[in-house]
Amino acid sequence: VFAHIVQAPEDPILGVTVAYNKDPSPIKLNLGVGAYRTEEGKPLVLNVVRKAEQILVNDRSRVKEYLPITGLGEFNKLSAKLIFGAESPAIRENRITTVQCLSGTGSLRVGGEFLARHYHQRTIYIPQPTWGNHIKVFQLAGLSVKYYRYYDPKTRGLDFQGMLEDLSSAPSGAIILLHACAHNPTGVDPTLEQWEQIRKLMRSKALLPFFDSAYQGFASGSLDGDAQPIRMFVSDGGECFAAQSYAKNMGLYGERVGALSIVCKSSDVASRVESQLKLVIRPMYSNPPVHGPSIVATVLKDRDLYNEWTLELKAMADRIISMRQQLFDALRARGTPGDWSHIIKQIGMFTFTGLNKEQVAFMTREYHIYMTSDGRISMAGLSSRTVPHLADAINAAVTR
Ligand code: PMP
Repeated sequence: VFAHIVQAPEDPILGVTVAYNKDPSPIKLNLGVGAYRTEEGKPLVLNVVRKAEQILVNDRSRVKEYLPITGLGEFNKLSAKLIFGAESPAIRENRITTVQCLSGTGSLRVGGEFLARHYHQRTIYIPQPTWGNHIKVFQLAGLSVKYYRYYDPKTRGLDFQGMLEDLSSAPSGAIILLHACAHNPTGVDPTLEQWEQIRKLMRSKALLPFFDSAYQGFASGSLDGDAQPIRMFVSDGGECFAAQSYAKNMGLYGERVGALSIVCKSSDVASRVESQLKLVIRPMYSNPPVHGPSIVATVLKDRDLYNEWTLELKAMADRIISMRQQLFDALRARGTPGDWSHIIKQIGMFTFTGLNKEQVAFMTREYHIYMTSDGRISMAGLSSRTVPHLADAINAAVTR
């Protein structure tokens, strides 16, 4: 009965790793997937995570019971504090509902399904380009997906005018997906002044902000700094969605820890919204896992662990920033034609190189370097040892 089923294509991002794994070359380099690697090219488990896990293991009172549908309460409270700020009036006024979800992706999906059921506008605008999974996540949640202009290939920067125009012509009430910081795949973020203009425009048209925060602390090294755009929207008293992931900033990729927060106008509304979120979650996966959020809560509530985390986070962000500088210098040293300053101007895990599909294919074929076909490279996958190989490949690709 399944003989008619056709082979599905690999995921455009995760498929890069599948191809990489098949390549026997000793010089191969995987810059496809956004996971942090050490200078030695190894995955990193943060020291604070190891410590938190030890604390959890030693606590014999801990059991493996189900969590509530909305997840670990303590984790939800701490997550809201982390993203909205400890002094947020919205927290004090109890106007936020936060539910633990399956990392960033699961938080986006639960938020999308809630909106499709309960919000009067079913259209969500996402930036062009955006993280590839956004489209499917929201379409399958029942929303219709449209784009707003975001990236200008000519300047390799923000198309701010285009963005404002497209937001202005969106229908009143439309949902707008915003990357809180370290936009994926472009590494291009609005300045705080531009965010303020975006906020004013969106509020004047009653557009609903839905923030995707997958890189808090990873962009600038500052948890508060990277959350600034979200806090600007929350401090005006309006509604706001935020999907949080601990994959990158705590290195908890496979633990699938995240949270969806919905900022409402009153605590009464927030509690009704939460009751409906439970109806979205229960038939999907019943309730979320317990180990990951317990790690996060252990770190966030302990002052020493929290401080140590911020240092480890800063070290990861700084290593990425230093890779940008090294790659930029290496291209300059080779006299590679073109302006490569976007490599040091862009922020976060990825550089949107501007290399085209053919150049990417050439680099994979001749240099065994793997990346998504849009020319996005993960800076976290680079090291001082591999920068020269990448610079040689880019140089060869553009001078071919
Ligand atoms: N949003 C963006 C912009 C991302 O880059 C990612 C991860 N690549 C996610 C969401 C979701 O990640 P996760 O589900 O692993 O938290």
